Amino acid sequence: MSITVDYHTHTRYSHGKSTILENAIEAKNKGLKEIAITDHGFGHRMFSVKPKELNKMKLECQEASLQTGVNVKLGVECNILGISGKLGLNVYDVNYFEVCLAGIHKFITYDKFYEWDRLLIKNLLVSKLNFKPSKALIKRNTEIYINAIKNNPIDVLAHPCYDLVADAVEIAKCCRDYGTLFEIDARKTQLSDEEWTSVFDTGVNFIISSDAHVSSNVGNVESALSIVKRLNLNEEQIVNINGKIPNLTRFKDYKNKL
Ligand SMILES: [Zn+2]
Ligand SMILES: [Zn+2]
Repeated sequence: MSITVDYHTHTRYSHGKSTILENAIEAKNKGLKEIAITDHGFGHRMFSVKPKELNKMKLECQEASLQTGVNVKLGVECNILGISGKLGLNVYDVNYFEVCLAGIHKFITYDKFYEWDRLLIKNLLVSKLNFKPSKALIKRNTEIYINAIKNNPIDVLAHPCYDLVADAVEIAKCCRDYGTLFEIDARKTQLSDEEWTSVFDTGVNFIISSDAHVSSNVGNVESALSIVKRLNLNEEQIVNINGKIPNLTRFKDYKNKL
């Protein structure tokens, strides 16, 4: 089993270490057909892509495609800003992007001040200091994901439930119903074997990604593949293995209607 495309890679335009061309060269060496450059979207306090650089990024993607023969798409990994489910994505910038990922990240510019406490601090106490998460916290975290999926044209939900306790099955059902792919992130997975099995049982579709922050890691997804093999999960539900090239429609349909 191997992947055909890696739609979650970072470069120096956010906090990755390599260039777009270096990511593309690595993808070619690993036999990938396509990659997406998905640097961190707007509203991250330390490493957002800058809107004024999007044009340059797009040109570099085109140039890297020509040089390597790998189709290099420009995408974005958006931040989910809070319980509203809003994304940090400007409507003026959407035409630059072909792939829309979204995930929950720390130390971003939340849309409401109280998220510093409710989304950040309460979850840090659980993930870093081993506090027991309350039912209310788990319910709220789950709602954040669900509101984001319902209200935005997200192609891929990035690293669901990483560093954040939430109901993965409810999130997967929502992804299934709205046509968002549930990511198996090779760097950031924290679901138990039982949760992975239950999430697959919802019938949702998955994509496997490297979340590479250095070019040598582009296409490195062994840890994700090993989960699938070990738990004997249904490979039919994974859109970028066994020669399949995914057809992402959610963000494309949204752009077409603008
Ligand atoms: Zn992320
Ligand atoms: Zn990422």
